[in-house]
Amino acid sequence: MNIAFKSTHLSLESTERRTILVAGGAGFLGSHLCDQLLHDGHKVICVDNFSTGRMDNLWHLLRFDTFSFIRHDIISSIDVPVDEIYNLACPASPPHYQADPIHTMKTCVFGSLNLLELAARHQARIFQASTSEVYGDPLVHPQPESYWGNVNSFGPRSCYDEGKRSAETLFRDFHVKYGVDIRIARIFNTYGPRMRPDDGRVVSNFIVQALKGQDITVYGDGSQSRSFCYVDDLIKGFLRLMGDQTAIHTPVNLGNPVEFTVRELAEQIVSMTGSSSKIVYRQLPIDDPRQRRPDITVAKRELGWEPSVALADGLKSTVSYFERQLVRPSGELVEVA
Ligand code: NAD
Ligand code: UDP
Repeated sequence: MNIAFKSTHLSLESTERRTILVAGGAGFLGSHLCDQLLHDGHKVICVDNFSTGRMDNLWHLLRFDTFSFIRHDIISSIDVPVDEIYNLACPASPPHYQADPIHTMKTCVFGSLNLLELAARHQARIFQASTSEVYGDPLVHPQPESYWGNVNSFGPRSCYDEGKRSAETLFRDFHVKYGVDIRIARIFNTYGPRMRPDDGRVVSNFIVQALKGQDITVYGDGSQSRSFCYVDDLIKGFLRLMGDQTAIHTPVNLGNPVEFTVRELAEQIVSMTGSSSKIVYRQLPIDDPRQRRPDITVAKRELGWEPSVALADGLKSTVSYFERQLVRPSGELVEVA
């Protein structure tokens, strides 16, 4: 067992040490969550089908004897004794969740159902990684939790948007019918180290393009907006929401309320990387939301949480991560799709 881990582990009372299942733990957010839970002294079981997740996100955790992983697709049921469950399993990038939309819908619906049944069986608290996509292309701005959204049920994004909306409904109904202790985070665009270079989301695309001197592909005219949260801030929000002192069983927005246009993001990344890349304009994907910014009043009031990492600082560490990912020791650039 790792020494650094031992010391934090010993600081936990045995009654506080929990066995926690993280579905989707090999992905971007899930692997950061596993890191934090292990360092807090818990036992972590990562369950992942490795569709978008990678062993590269987990190698450093194999030194913990309190860490294990199971290769498993959550559309099939699973039974392991657990005290807590985090459901992060689902591709999050539009090109990835649209690649097999029926599997995405099954992951959201059957996967949530299987994990909720596991939670009910073991009286485990369960967290759902929901999304700002439940608001669709919002007509209310910024978006509070009370807004029901503007979602197309019949488009390329629907498998994800409607899948995540259905999952929220299942969580609510398991809480009402079986008393399952649920927590639901509506996560807004989050970025940081461990995103895949071929992830396809805007921050990773622009950084990889800038570092490789390729054209920066702004979709549409770049006037659509997003609010970008750094991963460390978000994980703190997850832990607050899952805390014993919180008993909030309705969805909570977690995200950074500072809003940028996609064009501003492109310009900032070109400038901070000193790249020679040109900004080019490509077709806007169907149903791409025009604007997005979280109203985080509930998170501030109920969790005492708000993000603290500014975009410029978060981008700096994300750029360093991608520099390490893309450059071989020889200095040659690694090819990504
Ligand atoms: P990611 O694609 O990096 O991680 C998803 C993980 O889930 C991967 O490891 C993947 O292999 C695994 N997975 C997918 N389908 C599975 C299945 N059927 N069975 C088991 N494992 C499966 O994405 P991420 O950005 O880390 O997102 C994690 C969660 O947070 C997702 O549920 C996503 O919808 C949600 N979310 C993320 C953001 C964001 O900005 N990062 C925003 C809103 C919601
Ligand atoms: N986007 C872009 N260029 C890219 C990737 C994405 O202009 O190479 C845009 C996309 O059309 C959307 C925004 O950036 O308006 C955020 O896209 P992302 O896929 O990161 O997340 P979304 O919020 O759409 O799920």
